[in-house]
Amino acid sequence: MQAALFDAAFQLRMTDPPRPEPKPGEALIAVKAAGLCAGDLYIYTGKNPYVSYPRIGCHEIAGTVAGYGANTMGPAIGTRVVVDPFIGCGKCYPCRIGKRNCCANLTIVGVHRDGGFADFVAVPATNLVAVPDNLSDFEASFAEPVAIGVQGCRRGEVAADDIVLVLGAGPIGLAIVEVARSRGAKVYASDLSAERLAIARDLGAIPVEGGPGLKERVLEVTDNEGMPVVMEATGVAAVMEQTTELVASGGRIVILGLVKQGTGVTLPGLDLTRKEITLHGSRASVDCFPEALELLASGKIHYPKIASRFALREAPIVFDRLAKDPMAIHKAVFIPEAS
Ligand SMILES: [Zn+2]
Ligand SMILES: [Zn+2]
Repeated sequence: MQAALFDAAFQLRMTDPPRPEPKPGEALIAVKAAGLCAGDLYIYTGKNPYVSYPRIGCHEIAGTVAGYGANTMGPAIGTRVVVDPFIGCGKCYPCRIGKRNCCANLTIVGVHRDGGFADFVAVPATNLVAVPDNLSDFEASFAEPVAIGVQGCRRGEVAADDIVLVLGAGPIGLAIVEVARSRGAKVYASDLSAERLAIARDLGAIPVEGGPGLKERVLEVTDNEGMPVVMEATGVAAVMEQTTELVASGGRIVILGLVKQGTGVTLPGLDLTRKEITLHGSRASVDCFPEALELLASGKIHYPKIASRFALREAPIVFDRLAKDPMAIHKAVFIPEAS
């Protein structure tokens, strides 16, 4: 079969490995669409601390069930599915309370084991979610990034009467914008990039210029109250530190952005009690794929419209281009030739 293989940092090549044999408990998936995520770009640039090479990347996988390992049940052969890439151990505390997204022994498809930049991939049969009929494979491959937005909005308990500020209009910020909008919330988005803000506006957010003066602009549009919900999706420590002055008293902060390991973030302790702030972390997603697919099928998520499709064999060129300029392509999805 055809596959794009990361040999080492900055070494991605097309190769022809044998089709994976599904083990007991696993399903074989014929890949129909494989999304390129920032995590894959980090594998390419050698900045993903969890990956071991050689590795076939991709955790945003839509395809059809092509077979099962011995004694394994699941959706019928030929069923269109997406793959939830987070595999928990089932034994640790987070797994026991239903948070396998923070499993102590987490395995991620496309990071710790081979993923979807290939004609076929073997994954645990329990991690398949059926795709609604009216959703294309291409659109279905967005289930994973949209699920991150669903998780963030669940953590922040975003409801129709909420006013939400999304800090950072990259792919995760935009996913939050769309999911929060679909729940009926009024959504502001802030970013330093005018281009990203323009996209956030197209997706239904009210743009607010980031950087110096953000606090004043936020207070101005909220009658000096601050934002009921602040969602941090920049991963910049200074922006995280600013969330407590942007949030309204009694409001919620959700942190989705990732700072580097060991980076400290200082929050004014008195604000936490004085404003009675609810502070949540939010990691990837857990059990959010069905809702994400429903949202995509309902037409409320527009992000797939600004994505580009490429043949899988173009992966080495696309990664090279993105490593030089991450803004060159908003979102790339690969289609294996076999499909
Ligand atoms: Zn992703
Ligand atoms: Zn676990």
